[in-house]
Amino acid sequence: MSSHDDAARYFHHAAGIMGLSKNMQALLLTPEREMKVQIALERDNGEISTFIGYRIQHNSARGPMKGGLRYHHEVNESEVLSLATLMTWKTAVVNIPYGGAKGGISVNVKDLTQGEKDRLTRKFVDVIHDMVGPDKDIPAPDMGTNAQVMAWFMNQYSKFHGYNPACVTGKPVELHGSEGREEATGRGVVSLTERLLDKCKQNFQGSTFAIQGFGNVGSFAARRIEELGGKVVAVSDVSGGIWNPEGLDVMKLIDYAKDTGSISNFPGTDPIDNDALLASEVDVLIPAALGGVITSDNASTIRAKFIIEAANAPVTPEADEIFAHKGIIVLPDILANAGGVTVSYFEWVQNRQHFQWDVTRVREELHRILSDSFDKVWQIAEEKKISLRLAAYLLGIGRVGRATVLGGI
Ligand code: GLU
Repeated sequence: MSSHDDAARYFHHAAGIMGLSKNMQALLLTPEREMKVQIALERDNGEISTFIGYRIQHNSARGPMKGGLRYHHEVNESEVLSLATLMTWKTAVVNIPYGGAKGGISVNVKDLTQGEKDRLTRKFVDVIHDMVGPDKDIPAPDMGTNAQVMAWFMNQYSKFHGYNPACVTGKPVELHGSEGREEATGRGVVSLTERLLDKCKQNFQGSTFAIQGFGNVGSFAARRIEELGGKVVAVSDVSGGIWNPEGLDVMKLIDYAKDTGSISNFPGTDPIDNDALLASEVDVLIPAALGGVITSDNASTIRAKFIIEAANAPVTPEADEIFAHKGIIVLPDILANAGGVTVSYFEWVQNRQHFQWDVTRVREELHRILSDSFDKVWQIAEEKKISLRLAAYLLGIGRVGRATVLGGI
């Protein structure tokens, strides 16, 4: 089953409960525009490599479209479409004035030098610049991209349209980026987890956590968990996993990963593989890497009481059903990782006002938006006796549907 089929299944389930007509469902699910482009890159050694890039704009009923740009060898049309669709519901769940989009280039970034990455980004901008922009579609970082890539993006975009930092978010702070954007997804994941645990009468302090992925999202989440008194006992990255039931020293681990390039062999820990990490006996499991990692094949091995979808689409619909039966609570991606796009929104606001916020203001506003969104989703789930995922979809689809009808078709 493709990633887009998975995303559509959640949508149809929620749309069915809402009583949305088949025609309305088709309208809300069909992307507005899909762009698939060739990107030819001259490598440092003079050879030519050809890559495929995508930008898929799913929905603009509530505002300009918004979503990350992914550089990864598994990027394909179905995945980009499903991620674009998720962005539409995500921006609606946290009620920020955007629609949803996503982009990506199917490329193994590890094979590229810094100069090649720069040129690849600029060539991509050359072919998509007319379809993006501050009032049309605003890209941001995702897997394989970062603030530097956004800086190149903005620089190239500005060559066509005049200097305009609001065309992309997640930029370096020195180049009109926002304070607190880099940490935002991980920090948001943890503040939502705190609220969820509180509702479920599970003490955050002293709870144990396993995190799959130690990139931008996983590492900032781990840091915040430690700050708030939680115990991170297992972490993994592409190189493998590490485990210490007494808890890992997260700040030391971050330094270690920076120095050595991976978390492997971090002193005082035992190695564990990916399956063991997912199955570890912890209170909270946080998949913060790739999509589709928890499926019907491994769902029955999971022993955590809570699964927090820091990644996009880490749990397949089949696994989700298994968790519903077992009483394992899943905090869905379209709420759990919405802190990133929320601070992207703050960055865009600051760029448009030419006025910089300090980190305290960013964190306060982020906390307010995520707490309000969580409370709304929780309330819907309680009232209708449905999962948090379905409740979040109900909230998101409802907002997009109403905007569509009010705007007129
Ligand atoms: N790539 C992130 C996401 O999936 C952030 C998107 C954004 O900031 O626009 O939510």
